[in-house]
Amino acid sequence: SAKSGGRGAFRFFEPELDRLLHARRNLERDLRKALARSEFELHYQPFVNLKSGETCGFEALLRWHHPERGLVSPGEFIPVAEETGLILPLGEWVLRTACAEAAKWRSDLKIAINLSPAQFRSKELVSTIVSALAASGIASDRLELEVTETVIMHDSGTVFAALSQLRELGVRIALDDFGTGYSSLSFLQKFPFDKIKIDRSFVSELSSPMEEPHRIARAVVQFATSLGKTSTAEGVETAEQLDILRQEGCVEAQGFHLSPPIRASTIARLADRKAEAGEFAA
Ligand code: C2E
Ligand code: MG
Ligand code: MG
Ligand code: MG
Repeated sequence: SAKSGGRGAFRFFEPELDRLLHARRNLERDLRKALARSEFELHYQPFVNLKSGETCGFEALLRWHHPERGLVSPGEFIPVAEETGLILPLGEWVLRTACAEAAKWRSDLKIAINLSPAQFRSKELVSTIVSALAASGIASDRLELEVTETVIMHDSGTVFAALSQLRELGVRIALDDFGTGYSSLSFLQKFPFDKIKIDRSFVSELSSPMEEPHRIARAVVQFATSLGKTSTAEGVETAEQLDILRQEGCVEAQGFHLSPPIRASTIARLADRKAEAGEFAA
């Protein structure tokens, strides 16, 4: 417990700090048990082609059903999983589960999976992915790996080598949350990737035509197009945002307006039918 005899000013904060450290230790302890207890689940959010309106694929999003706390968001537990190294077995579970799920879908539907920086620091990343693909039997060009600018800025040599190897296998690479990191243009030029996902902070302010966010969205779409990359807008919440993005030539969109993340069983039911965006709406 807190050191006694300290200065009053510090002692004042000790109970609060104690409480935070305690909560954090509990989270870590519970997270260590969660995988073995099957408390994780993947939800899947469709991304849609803006010209045809058809669903191109689904992004796997991790959910943790904590026995007492209920649903804990990835924003809370993924940083803890990264710091403790638990992200490695957890990330492997995500890869295997999502690929196996995608094997049940129509064979043109892609599966997008988020990777964290710690997974790139592991020597096992490429072999884990190859193994998940082989076990599921899905074609490698159905797999899309989402990485953030933070991932590519760290230890770029290792990341570059892993991504190049994966791309040679036919796996596609998407740059997630684009516009929120620090990647330079020269870096983007060298970095092997196929898709740019425009962060939802830009998309959410698209409502007024030709204001700054609109011009930024336009510039990013043009940037992607001129590099021969696919542009995807994240976090589309209104019909108006969707219209603007379509007008600007954005290739794909994803967001609550099209569909929230949904359970695997819902997709499986629709797998034999033609996948129109609206069919997945809740
Ligand atoms: P992300 O990859 O950028 O995923 C998009 C997040 O935005 C998801 O939150 C999704 O539910 C949410 N979202 C989708 N459409 C909308 C919308 O229209 N409006 C708003 N406000 N939000 C929308 P979620 O599921 O809480 O995930 C948060 C982040 O956690 C993800 O951001 C990703 O970075 C990370 N994450 C999720 N699953 C995994 C995973 O399996 N592995 C790793 N390493 N990270 C993951
Ligand atoms: Mg993502
Ligand atoms: Mg994102
Ligand atoms: Mg994000």
